[in-house]
Amino acid sequence: MEHTRCLIIGSGPAGYTAAIYTTRAGINSVLISGMQPGGQLTTTTTIENFPGFPEGIDGFQLMENMRQQAVNVGADVRDGLVTAIELGTRPFVATLDGGAQIEADTVIVATGASAKYLGLADEKKYAGQGVSACATCDGFFYRKKVVAVVGGGDTACEEATYLSNLCSKVYMIVRKDYLRASKAMQQRVAERENIEVLYNTNTVGLFGENGVEGAHLVRFKGTDKEELFDIAIDGFFLAIGHKPNTDFLAGQIETDEAGYIVTDKVTTATNVEGVFAAGDVADPHYRQAIAAAGTGCRAALDAERYISTHSL
Ligand code: NDP
Repeated sequence: MEHTRCLIIGSGPAGYTAAIYTTRAGINSVLISGMQPGGQLTTTTTIENFPGFPEGIDGFQLMENMRQQAVNVGADVRDGLVTAIELGTRPFVATLDGGAQIEADTVIVATGASAKYLGLADEKKYAGQGVSACATCDGFFYRKKVVAVVGGGDTACEEATYLSNLCSKVYMIVRKDYLRASKAMQQRVAERENIEVLYNTNTVGLFGENGVEGAHLVRFKGTDKEELFDIAIDGFFLAIGHKPNTDFLAGQIETDEAGYIVTDKVTTATNVEGVFAAGDVADPHYRQAIAAAGTGCRAALDAERYISTHSL
């Protein structure tokens, strides 16, 4: 069976950064890219908050650059999926789609998290044309425009507050008659005059000729007060939570209630010795590309230290 000293799973900023660091440290490592090579950034447009690019950079291009940089320093970057991994053995054994298996002395899990969507066909239809799941990434493109944020949790409140600094008006579409967010976040929303919260409201669809121009909504769905109405918006932001991509681990690594991998805080070590986690899969708080790249670096250094301590 093929053997690597470090198997990196995932090809977002965390995965590629880990590959660059491990390879430069002389550790032969294999990176398996996952379902969406390049990760979440490949679905955004221009990225203006990743340092080093004064004019901003296209998200897809940024990830291509990272991949090329990893390849240039000698990392073995492969497209494919890790469908299962056995963490009870030493070395670990990963199974790839297609059935091939790789033995690994260390593993860096950098599989990211996926934003949850409502499941409307229009979300796909207008992807990149007014539908976004990241206000920090895309809010800038909606300056002085009208947007809606779906959700009533802390993320939704945070995104709505962020957008209210840029946009002329922000609707919050909240399915219940209250916000689930913390009192402090609710207060911040209440203080913004240009945020209007639409309670008891669900989204039925989106419309527009050239990108999103509005949303079809329903209030008091399924009751005798049910009411259909439309709002005119330029942007539709999902903030209904994220799902960390950990299914393939089959419960072998400790996660929190929401499924994020728990690391030991000081390092990127998980509860399984020799397995490290980096990027959004272990980060419920920041979820930024630059933060993910930083933890990718840390995971690589942690793996390198583990390898040398254990003479692997
Ligand atoms: P949450 O799960 O807390 O909230 C999700 C929100 O989306 C809820 O209002 C929920 O509605 C709504 N929702 C879920 N599914 C649907 C749907 N299909 N249609 C309509 N609405 C839907 O997720 P968050 O991302 O907001 O937060 C995740 C965690 O991160 C939380 O623990 C949060 O406290 C934390 N966090 C903390 C921050 C901070 O402290 N600054 C900032 C951001 C996040 P309902 O209430 O009806 O279930």
